[in-house]
Amino acid sequence: MQGKVWRVCIVGSGPAGFYTASRLLKQSASSAALKSKNVRLEVDMLEGLPVPYGLVRYGISPDHPEVKSVVNKFNEMAVQEGTGPGGSGRFEFMGNVRIRTSSSAQTSTSPVRETRQSFQSTDIQWGNSGVRVQDLLKRYHSIVLAYGSSKDRRLNIQNEDAGGVISARQFVAWYNGYPSQIATVKSDEVIDKNSQSQASPDGASDSKSTDPMQSNKEHVMMSTLLKQNSSAVIIGQGNVALDIARVLLIPNPRESLGKTDMPDYAVNALVDSKVRDVTIVGRRGPLNVSFTAKELRELDVICKQHGIQCLVLDADVNEQLEKLKRQSSSTKSKQERGRIRVLEVLNRFQNSDKDIDGNGKASGRSLAFRFFKSPAEINVSKDKDSNKEVISEVKFATTRYTNEDACDQVEIVPNCPAEGIKTNFLIKSIGYQSVGVDGLPFDSKRGRLPHTQGRVLSSAVPDDESNSNGYNVMNGVYVAGWLKTGPTGVIASTMYDAYQTADCLLQDIESDIHLPNDQVPARQDTIQWLQSQIGSRPVTFEDWKVIEDEEIRRGKLLGKPYEKITKTDEILQILHKHHNKVKN
Ligand code: FAD
Ligand code: NAP
Repeated sequence: MQGKVWRVCIVGSGPAGFYTASRLLKQSASSAALKSKNVRLEVDMLEGLPVPYGLVRYGISPDHPEVKSVVNKFNEMAVQEGTGPGGSGRFEFMGNVRIRTSSSAQTSTSPVRETRQSFQSTDIQWGNSGVRVQDLLKRYHSIVLAYGSSKDRRLNIQNEDAGGVISARQFVAWYNGYPSQIATVKSDEVIDKNSQSQASPDGASDSKSTDPMQSNKEHVMMSTLLKQNSSAVIIGQGNVALDIARVLLIPNPRESLGKTDMPDYAVNALVDSKVRDVTIVGRRGPLNVSFTAKELRELDVICKQHGIQCLVLDADVNEQLEKLKRQSSSTKSKQERGRIRVLEVLNRFQNSDKDIDGNGKASGRSLAFRFFKSPAEINVSKDKDSNKEVISEVKFATTRYTNEDACDQVEIVPNCPAEGIKTNFLIKSIGYQSVGVDGLPFDSKRGRLPHTQGRVLSSAVPDDESNSNGYNVMNGVYVAGWLKTGPTGVIASTMYDAYQTADCLLQDIESDIHLPNDQVPARQDTIQWLQSQIGSRPVTFEDWKVIEDEEIRRGKLLGKPYEKITKTDEILQILHKHHNKVKN
């Protein structure tokens, strides 16, 4: 007997999207309730880029291949459940389809910790076009939004967009080969000549026609910054700041990064880099850093191995460590143990610099950690060659703990003159940021979709989030990943969190709770509709395997696992050629 097909759309193909999909497909196959109702689940995964895996491919540092290998699991699931030979047909990837996001966000100018939850956005990569989520809501029984955090948090100080100031997201995307969204070849010429005639009247199909030189400009900017500066300042003390410091300071990039998946253009630029000194500045104390012990230890090993001098300034780490040990309960929590381990490494750095001899800086490189400095001002000067304003100095207000016992919130020390650090290269590593979509609520205070256990609420909960009683759940709408938690968390936490969302969704399917659609179109119908919206056939998982094969082929020539193709145009061209070859 033909059963009911329950159609789920997941937006975003990062870890959250893939873990949600695999949990849904696995658990639904063994659900007695779904079996008895003869319900078959189908998952479509929409992704703005033409290739899958989100930050695993474009965020995680190339020198962490063991973390990136999580994609093997995703791949396994996509093949087993996919529409290719031998697959169950329950899963399809649909790349190069982005949903339209809104750019509404809140701004705050408070320089200290309260600013953490306040956002303003810059969308460098994508314009304001794409598929409307309201239209997607009409085509599925359930939708899971897992499109992460693709923008930058802002400092909200003057000149933060001056020349020489970049965000960590920009730098990480550059050294990870994030594809330019530019299709200089019209996408209808690329895959399907017939689709253009059905293009959406609201212009949604124009999503990729911007400045074709953009990606090249970005590359020229990054390599120039590396070539012209002997020092760099990083604001923010999270793991992303450590990733960047490692990449900037590693003395022999060809040897250490040349065999990773870092694109060759980035390795070459790092080989030519003149950056020797990196300063990582935090607005609070060593007790409040966001980076974790494992990552700090990794840096410690690299610094020792290569003779990179480590300095810790502005705070007595030993004193803070002793205080923390005294304050901590005898049965220490995981968080307390983690903090102690971080302080122990920083303490070693602080003490080793006292003994530093001529060999301590054998590589001629140094890494300094500075504390209690809140960014206050960026001074600029005119660059002689470009006539553009570029950063010359960043000024910091000195902070102190509001409550010395709690060691958490800080305030600006009154009447203390701001301290300047001269630099022409500033990296803001203060976190990523999510945006909402028109037609769905967005909690701009917390920077994420409002939800209870992954079920999206019709409005944000103002204060105590744990109590969402009285707030309506939007039937059939779910959220996972950084869009659910805000832009923090590692792959493992993202996985557990995605499982929670998937389990709630399954419970709802069993109770027949869905979007208010009587008729849900079949996958083929939706593919055709998407084609009419974006002007080309979406990139399928089988298409992605063609791209992956080509990347592996190019990688072999360079002695690395794969060389990423970093232009959307080129990816679509390769697929066009492949499809033509298969047809003939
Ligand atoms: P993402 O991975 O960002 O996936 C979101 C997906 O949605 C992307 O593919 C994106 O292209 C897509 N998308 C965005 N907007 C749209 C749209 N409008 N329409 C359609 N699709 C869209 N964790 C670790 O465990 N180890 C590490 O070493 C590590 N390193 C990291 C390094 C960096 C620089 C960063 C930023 C994070 C790192 N993390 C690491 C954390 C890890 O990457 C995240 O926990 C995880 O990627 C979050 O998953 P996600 O699916 O929510 O978001
Ligand atoms: P993060 O951990 O949230 O760190 C952001 C840093 O920026 C904090 O030190 C924060 O200080 C500071 N900051 C925020 N706003 C600021 C402002 N206005 N002025 C000055 N400083 C400001 O973010 P992230 O480094 O981007 O990392 C994101 C997530 O990815 C984290 O969960 C991280 O662990 C994960 N990640 C993991 C790995 C790994 O496992 N190897 C690698 C990279 C990333 P306050 O604390 O004072 O707000």
